Amino acid sequence: MLGKCPYCNDGNVTVAKKTVLGKQTKVYSCSNTRFYTEDGECFESVGSCSYRIWGNSLAKYGKRAIGEREVKALLSSGSFTAVLHSKNGVAYRKTVVAHYEYGITVLFNEEVAS
Ligand SMILES: [Zn+2]
Repeated sequence: MLGKCPYCNDGNVTVAKKTVLGKQTKVYSCSNTRFYTEDGECFESVGSCSYRIWGNSLAKYGKRAIGEREVKALLSSGSFTAVLHSKNGVAYRKTVVAHYEYGITVLFNEEVAS
């Protein structure tokens, strides 16, 4: 268990591995979230909670995997700082917070001292 679900009061967030389109990825999800697979894609069903963070959520920003330590920080303090990369390769630090629909979201408008 990594921490309490930020969206429902009784779920615990745990880590599991799922295969999505032939690729294995970690998913951090609330114990009240249920998954189903359709055409090789994995979806979360609408249960009592559907909070989950896909381990590859930040891949498009050059961060290939989100680690357990980062998820723990997110659940205990509400955010974690990630080093992301823009399309032209510039590294920048951003604050990542929980988001019910996307699992996490990056605060792009906020300046963080590096
Ligand atoms: Zn939950």
